[in-house]
Amino acid sequence: MPALAHVPESGLRSLTSGGQPVRLNLLAHGLATRTSPPPQAHPELLIQVEDLDDLLDQLANEQFQFVLPNEPPPSGHTCSVTFDDGYANNALFLPIAERYRIPFVLFVSSLNIEQQLPYLWDAKAVSGDGAWRHWSDDYREAYRHLTPETVRRLLGDENHRPFTVNELRAFADNQWTHLALHTHSHQPLVGRFLATAAQEIEENRRFLSGFPRVLPRDLALPCGLYTPWTGKHLLNGLVDRIYTCDGGASTPGEDMVHRISLVSPTVRGSLISQVRRAFEWKVWLRRQVANIRYSNKVLNGL
Ligand SMILES: [Zn+2]
Repeated sequence: MPALAHVPESGLRSLTSGGQPVRLNLLAHGLATRTSPPPQAHPELLIQVEDLDDLLDQLANEQFQFVLPNEPPPSGHTCSVTFDDGYANNALFLPIAERYRIPFVLFVSSLNIEQQLPYLWDAKAVSGDGAWRHWSDDYREAYRHLTPETVRRLLGDENHRPFTVNELRAFADNQWTHLALHTHSHQPLVGRFLATAAQEIEENRRFLSGFPRVLPRDLALPCGLYTPWTGKHLLNGLVDRIYTCDGGASTPGEDMVHRISLVSPTVRGSLISQVRRAFEWKVWLRRQVANIRYSNKVLNGL
């Protein structure tokens, strides 16, 4: 007897069939093409533009409207697109933004661009530093100890290097590009580093002040990490909105914007299935548990 064929759930129908408008906020980091060489580290952070194009095409076909994440939404389903950090390969997105008319936000970690230093998670991975703790180490201190070899190796690689200032200017000149805060050094704002938030945000804002279409009151949390104290501290006058990567839908007008962090389909399945799964309570719960675990580690000095 032939096995029953597995019928995959079609596209995003399961999300949009409830009658309520769905508000998606997507997050990506690095972009590559089908012909790019393999990454030296963190392959999960690289998404092929062709895959992103497919996802956006499906969303457009499902009548999603592309909007900025901080905008009051029009009626109907909406989707925002954001990038974190400032990888130079984000320029690959511009033709897609033009084609689908997508206003999008890049949350910029400015130290890497200004000082031309690779992102620490990439640097620690290629230099084999297993003792690195992304949630509690002092980022500014760690940048000072990068070897010239590690810096050279990552800055010479399109999968890993940050924008130069001039490249970011050209990128920001595009009518669809908006820039926003991601702290200067990408220091997670938890534990003792919450005290550095005002300085991190001020330096980040100073760097962005010369660019067009900046959202100077919108901050994406470095590494998506936060504790109950993080939100309270940041929203007490430092910024107006903070962006997580906790997944799920967002409620318009709230000061905490939850984003769905997309990773390479080779690691976690098609982008469309990642969007669908981001609405499962198990995934949301896992992210909350991770935040609590890191909060406890930070509090205990681990
Ligand atoms: Zn980041």
